[in-house]
Amino acid sequence: MTIAPASRAERTPENLPDRIRHVIGGESVDSLSGRTFEVLDPVSNEPYLRAAAGQADDVDRAVAAARVAFDEGPWPTLLPRARARILNRIADIVSSRDARLAELETFDTGLPITQALGQAQRAAENFRFFADLIVAQSDDTYKVPGRQVNYVNRKPKGVAGLITPWNTPFMLESWKLAPALASGCTVVLKPAEFTPLSASLWADIFREAGLPDGVFNLVHGLGEEAGDALVKHPDVRLISFTGESRTGEIIFANAAPTLKGLSMELGGKSPAVVFADADLDAALDSTLFGVFSLNGERCTAGSRILVERPVYDRFVERYAARATRVVVGDPRDPRTEVGALVHPEHYEKVMGYIELGKSEGRLVAGGGRPDGLETGNYVAPTVFADVKPEARIFQEEIFGPVVALTPFDTEEEALALANGVRYGLAAYLWTRDLERAHTFAQSLDCGMVWLNSHNVRDLRTPFGGVKASGLGQEGGYRSLDFYTDQQAVHISL
Ligand code: NAD
Repeated sequence: MTIAPASRAERTPENLPDRIRHVIGGESVDSLSGRTFEVLDPVSNEPYLRAAAGQADDVDRAVAAARVAFDEGPWPTLLPRARARILNRIADIVSSRDARLAELETFDTGLPITQALGQAQRAAENFRFFADLIVAQSDDTYKVPGRQVNYVNRKPKGVAGLITPWNTPFMLESWKLAPALASGCTVVLKPAEFTPLSASLWADIFREAGLPDGVFNLVHGLGEEAGDALVKHPDVRLISFTGESRTGEIIFANAAPTLKGLSMELGGKSPAVVFADADLDAALDSTLFGVFSLNGERCTAGSRILVERPVYDRFVERYAARATRVVVGDPRDPRTEVGALVHPEHYEKVMGYIELGKSEGRLVAGGGRPDGLETGNYVAPTVFADVKPEARIFQEEIFGPVVALTPFDTEEEALALANGVRYGLAAYLWTRDLERAHTFAQSLDCGMVWLNSHNVRDLRTPFGGVKASGLGQEGGYRSLDFYTDQQAVHISL
């Protein structure tokens, strides 16, 4: 089923700003150069606003403001409880505006509205979680009887550079902002240029919650300009980056001369492995959700489904039938399950993979633009079966509603297939055999495994990937470790 979008006038949220601007030292400002870039609405691909295109001089101003807020305080030296109160207020404000946030996010990104609402609630939860954590945090003390007491003095690192992607932008920004601010850092955020709209809400939220000016700074712009200047800035102590693996490589090299701390959450091509003894109904539901929710624009998408041979044909048939019934269309309609992809460039990339897939696998669902949706970045949920491991659609991240199904005969073969890509972010495993579940899970080269489960996050656990999927883990205290220095103080008795 498809749902045609309403007219542009009906779809456009009320009270949009006249321009998307930077936030520097508490002020909303344009670029010093006056440069701007166009922001498109993914349903029509027409520009709906212009955003300030930050250059190196704008980044200099933002970093200087963050540095003053850090050096002169009070943010870094506030008691954890005082910072936590402000973070909790931020969470409350985000929760109370979830409908508006979802409306803007859906308009700017093309995400289905029900899912955008869920992401707004997750953003609030990220702030609540780190507010709790900072208050509960304790540091180590070691005693050498009769000789020494040694303890850890934890200090915020300074100005943190946060660079974020366009998929679920507001939520992913919160995943960096909350631990950075909880730790006492001051920040400069550079959001993705495809989706700058929701980021412009942070400034008001933070002001109302009582965050001092200059603690949060925001510079919009292109990655190669604003992002690049932030990575190279000598006063930025660390970069937390989420985006493509190729961009991660560039940032890694550019951060080297200033020896910055780096945390990188990168791309994925995560397997879902379905054994014949699994609860196949549950596996079917979950693997459909795993790649078609969030438009498939999800780093942890289970975009390769490996199915044990005895149940393979039946699984493919049922999967294809269900994929064909996924509701595609107007992102604002609560019935929509897959909306419009974020940008025409990304749409072309995904469509390119679909065309390639027709020679690399057996097309059993989708395969192009859905009927009845003649404009906008709509892609029918697309399923390829019998995909060989050397196929590019098996190896490369597509980041859209496209999935590759591959049969396997033995556990060893399944493991080789699951691990046989350059990425190692997440994996999903479906089996009723407890022993196999744990041994297989532990042999997977990836940062996160879900056993007989959807992708449900526990914010205390590590989040991150291995191989080309990332560098370092965030989540729980690991995030606070990243944003703080831990100094050892030794006392002689
Ligand atoms: P991207 O790498 O193109 O851009 C991400 C951000 O980096 C943007 O803000 C961009 O402007 C900036 N950037 C680009 N070039 C830069 C440069 N040279 N220097 C500094 N900054 C630069 O990624 P994207 O297309 O926005 O996002 C999709 C990618 O993000 C996918 O690969 C996806 O898997 C990944 N992702 C990973 C996770 C995770 O947690 N592992 C989460 C979400 C998305």
